Amino acid sequence: MTTLKTPPGAALLGRSLAWIALVTLALPAFAAAQQTAETIIRNGLIVTADGRMEADIRIRGETVVEIGPSLAAGAGAREIDASGMLLLPGAVDTHTHLNPVMPDPPEPNRNQDDYASGSAAAFAGGVTTVSNFISMRSGEDVDAYAARVIGAIERNGMADVFVHVAVGNDPTPFVRSRLDELVSRGFVSTGEDFMARPAYDQHVLEWYRTFRASGGAGVLSMIHAEDYAILQEARDRLMAEGQARAEGGRGRNGARASGLCGNTADVFAPHGGGVPAAGRRPLPGRATAA
Ligand SMILES: [Zn+2]
Repeated sequence: MTTLKTPPGAALLGRSLAWIALVTLALPAFAAAQQTAETIIRNGLIVTADGRMEADIRIRGETVVEIGPSLAAGAGAREIDASGMLLLPGAVDTHTHLNPVMPDPPEPNRNQDDYASGSAAAFAGGVTTVSNFISMRSGEDVDAYAARVIGAIERNGMADVFVHVAVGNDPTPFVRSRLDELVSRGFVSTGEDFMARPAYDQHVLEWYRTFRASGGAGVLSMIHAEDYAILQEARDRLMAEGQARAEGGRGRNGARASGLCGNTADVFAPHGGGVPAAGRRPLPGRATAA
């Protein structure tokens, strides 16, 4: 048996990570944590970035409070035998699109999950923290934005959620003072900042200023690093060659070239020379996800 480099539990006590046994234990463990004062997961192989060890884990509420061998169960504790299973810290999904409020009537070609179903899907896959992209409304101040965004998460979320502030097509309002305000309310990233839209080229100076201000404010910019002109030209060319098809609804630039958005490097390749262009090989039948 190998052990963690730190004394058992010392580095992990108090972390609000939801520990889960892979897949089969994920939902029961979560439910138990919600319903009982204490849960003990026994005999699993605990694996973290620091190492691995065989031990028990005590969870109170949503917090790991103790890790060690043969933990004594408190009154009313739920005990789960994880023999032969791995116990991992919950994974983080940094790119999730969830509806804060489900559209009514439903929109079949849009995202179909909200915070509740998105949380359940995340737990089933070992993810305990998900993200979302939410735009600020025109004229909305940071306090109103924070109240709206956090309120929706608290109403329906089960997983931990963090939010990327979606800048949209015009970054002009995202000056340093607004970014500082967002940071003060706990928002530390923007996204998706689409370079693959004509609006990016129209506001390129404002984007550059916003990226610089973001760096100063400590805000991480999540950039869709694609080039509108290259994608547009390649899309039109592939469409003309019959190697791509138009899809309604969600295309970045209207119709979408199947497979194109995920293959930007291939599109660039003809300009670098020597690498086959995307159009010379079969493309998948479905568009890539945004
Ligand atoms: Zn996305």
